[in-house]
Amino acid sequence: MLSSAEMDTDRRATKPPNTCNTRRISVTSRSYGFVGLGNMGLPMARRLLEAGYSLSVFDTRRDVAETLVADGATVAESLSDLGRNADVVFMSLPTPDAVKAVCLSPGGLREAERAEVIVDLSTTGPRVATEVAQVLSDAGKTWIDCPVSGGVAGARKGTLTLMVSGDAGWIETLAPVIACFGKQFVVGTEAGSGHSMKIINNLMSSAALAVTSECLVLGRKLGLEPETMLEVLNSGSGRNSATTDKIPNFVLPGSFDFGFAIALSSKDARLCLEEGDRMGVPMIVGNAVRQLMNIARDSLGPDADMTEVIRVVEGWAGAEVRGKDVAQKAAE
Ligand code: NAD
Repeated sequence: MLSSAEMDTDRRATKPPNTCNTRRISVTSRSYGFVGLGNMGLPMARRLLEAGYSLSVFDTRRDVAETLVADGATVAESLSDLGRNADVVFMSLPTPDAVKAVCLSPGGLREAERAEVIVDLSTTGPRVATEVAQVLSDAGKTWIDCPVSGGVAGARKGTLTLMVSGDAGWIETLAPVIACFGKQFVVGTEAGSGHSMKIINNLMSSAALAVTSECLVLGRKLGLEPETMLEVLNSGSGRNSATTDKIPNFVLPGSFDFGFAIALSSKDARLCLEEGDRMGVPMIVGNAVRQLMNIARDSLGPDADMTEVIRVVEGWAGAEVRGKDVAQKAAE
């Protein structure tokens, strides 16, 4: 554990650079931990290792954790083991319950001998963040919201958008480390603010995908080519994250490997709409988006890629939105 004098010195010494230095010159004496090595966590943990940070990792899927040993990680035997070896712990977990389990269960991070800061990269909404942050604070630990946007590609390249909130001193101290993941936006000083920002972002992103899927399937039935529609939309006012990225890169080729499970997308919509209910904000469009995501999850399975939502609309309409090459091969 660092004394407050050491911490102050450290805060002064670490002026955040704009980008992550991927060589081993920015290594501090601090040790880091990473819990949750899924689609997002694994590449993010790898970026910390590439930057030279000392890292203990833990996932309930031990085989996945072991893939990072070649990159220099130490695989923790348990959360207690990780909490004994790391000063700062990053988490990238699927659900609010997983965040609670990792932080609050017996042997969880609340009881960690050494870890004093927990940085939550998951998308789990403001309520669990507020609740867990309070319990951790009572145990003398600091919670930082840091949910991310930008997908698996962004996690690999370090180009994520990070929505940070919490203790300003720690946010400044950790800025050079968090810069390994992408661009930081400090949205507040309270636990939960970063998570509020994130669920708003995700409902908007899902809404764009849902309506773009419907419109492109309609366009096919009206005789328009997918490539032509995208070219026009991306030059016009219909442009969005589905027309610029998800449809051309993951739907037209038929790969459906954007890397975000439809169950997680449904969960994010639910988290946002729950806040809408709580705050008395009617979210009519948001509820329709959630229903479509839920139907896709239930008919295609929870692990289907979120971009596969278009397949549900295609099935109903009897028309497919695929690139010329893919459509030609299917016809042969
Ligand atoms: P994932 O399901 O691929 O990974 C989650 C990992 O957490 C898995 O490896 C799982 O084994 C591990 N895990 C679950 N419970 C655990 C526990 N109790 N202890 C230790 N490990 C545990 O999910 P993901 O796609 O990597 O997403 C992680 C988080 O980031 C989610 O909250 C998601 O909503 C968010 N997110 C995902 C994307 C994306 O494109 N995939 C983008 C932005 C944000």
